[in-house]
Amino acid sequence: MTDATISRPLEVAKMSATPLKLTVPGIKYWVAMSQPETHLFEVTLQIQDWQKTVLDLKMPVWTPGSYLVREYAKNLQDFRVYSAENEPLSWHKISKNHWQVETPNVSEVTVKYRIFANELTVRTNHLDASHGYFNGAAIFFYLPEFQYNPYTVTIIPPKPNWQITTTLPAIPEEPNTFLAADFDTLVDSPFEIGSHQLYDFEVRGKSHTLAIWSKGNLDPGRMIRDMQKIIEVEAELFGDLPYNHYLFLLHLSNSGFGGLEHKLSCSLNYPRFGFRLKEKYDRFMQLVAHEFFHLWNVKRIRPKGLEVFNYDGENYTPSLWFSEGTTSYYDLVIPFRAKIYDIKGFFQSLAKEITRFMTTPGRNVQPLNESSWDAWIKLYRRDANSDNNQISYYLKGEMVSLLLDLLIRARHKNTRSLDDVMRTMWEKFGQSTWVDGRQNEIGFTPEQLQGVIESVAGIDLSDFFERYLNTTEELPFDQYLEPFGLKLAGDDPTGSPQIGFTAGLEHGREMIKFVTADGPAQLAGIDAGDELLAIDGFRVSAEHLSDRLKDYKIGDAIAVTVFHQDELRTCQVTLAAPRPSRYQIVTLEQPTSTQKQNFAGWLGVPLSKFVT
Ligand SMILES: [Zn+2]
Repeated sequence: MTDATISRPLEVAKMSATPLKLTVPGIKYWVAMSQPETHLFEVTLQIQDWQKTVLDLKMPVWTPGSYLVREYAKNLQDFRVYSAENEPLSWHKISKNHWQVETPNVSEVTVKYRIFANELTVRTNHLDASHGYFNGAAIFFYLPEFQYNPYTVTIIPPKPNWQITTTLPAIPEEPNTFLAADFDTLVDSPFEIGSHQLYDFEVRGKSHTLAIWSKGNLDPGRMIRDMQKIIEVEAELFGDLPYNHYLFLLHLSNSGFGGLEHKLSCSLNYPRFGFRLKEKYDRFMQLVAHEFFHLWNVKRIRPKGLEVFNYDGENYTPSLWFSEGTTSYYDLVIPFRAKIYDIKGFFQSLAKEITRFMTTPGRNVQPLNESSWDAWIKLYRRDANSDNNQISYYLKGEMVSLLLDLLIRARHKNTRSLDDVMRTMWEKFGQSTWVDGRQNEIGFTPEQLQGVIESVAGIDLSDFFERYLNTTEELPFDQYLEPFGLKLAGDDPTGSPQIGFTAGLEHGREMIKFVTADGPAQLAGIDAGDELLAIDGFRVSAEHLSDRLKDYKIGDAIAVTVFHQDELRTCQVTLAAPRPSRYQIVTLEQPTSTQKQNFAGWLGVPLSKFVT
């Protein structure tokens, strides 16, 4: 389907099959881990055929897919640099992530440094006695003028039984050595080194590998069968699989959760005992569907603002609502289409997401485009007030994607859908071109994205985009659900008057976790972080809070005693009317035949099968 993207790995393979002839300069990395228990990767960088008088080395400050400046240079230590004659070269730092080395009359430079790696997430590095995992952005310097030159990486495992798994092609006859066509590719190709389990399988004639580090209660056979179904459904949606080989890299941990997408792989982190319960297993398959969907949406169909990565600072775009939110919508839809869960499972997942959205006050404060733009300072930097002043572009993007899918489907009697938007975006922007030896992505602008959605919908959507992306106007779920015989229903199962905070046990203390903006508790002077002690003079726990509130009426003033920064305070809180805390999609009482047809056309099952 995409000659350019398919030809890329082939191109690399071709290069590596012939004796390696790197363009000047040759940039070679060695990564050793002789004492994995120390969590220190020992990195050597050798630059050959160097001709300049200074060498600039920069460590990326973030990695694509996770929009937060993480300052990877903070983990670097023991920086040293030598000439070919093993003479130390003088160097100094220009900025937090920029090292400059004096290189007059030096044609070969060797840099040595160590990277502390003890953060087990999909976007950081982790090294211990059981394995080594790293992301290129978090371990390798780039040479600013030579970002688009090839980089080679040689791994020196600490034990003979540690194997190396990466999607970079191996260079023949050079043991444990891999070639990245450019720095972007190096960053996009994580390494797993250790005694992890490897499982190979095929879908549509393309090979796939599932690599699993550590142990848990999963059944790899079942997992692979379900992954195959997900891959098949997504291949059908986009028309093809634009790679020769794809790697799922799964880390099992105590409580970690996360995924990071790459062009030819994804890294997944999931609780090791989170596979027995159906609901948790389904959540894992949604994560798989999500990261795999990204191989198209965001890795190849990229917002203009992410067309060229700036490893030195933030890349800004208002379109993460589409890259992440639409991907999140599909991570609910795809497992349903793959029959991993049924119609009830689909609506249960959707109801959970709608509940999360409708109970986040920040949706009335931050518009969707702004949420995407400010990802760097808001979504990834949450604090106790975040739910009051921001809305996740994942979550609202998912809701807007649902409305757009329903809008298109209702207008075209299900002959068109959001699937057509994805396919058109793939055709228009998924192809990348090779220019001057580097692969150029074709980024889409917000206007082009809107244009594609409008062309599929067959109407002008300026008003929709203005209201739901640029302002905080409430999303009209019912208006879009109605043609399908559905509506949104909200209730408060606790039945208690509203106090305006949530609490929970923390290190043996009952702590106030979240205080709703302009709610009863905030207006009475209670803050997140206060320790909850008593209501009307009697001790209260988070567990029994809602029950205790049932003894009061809306409008009652109650005395809430807290420790606020260790100072005892009693605040008079006037209880308010309850707000819905749970939302569900339910069927209309008397759906028409058109509504029934629309529903069946959308989900492939009769409306009567979906009884709420
Ligand atoms: Zn994502």
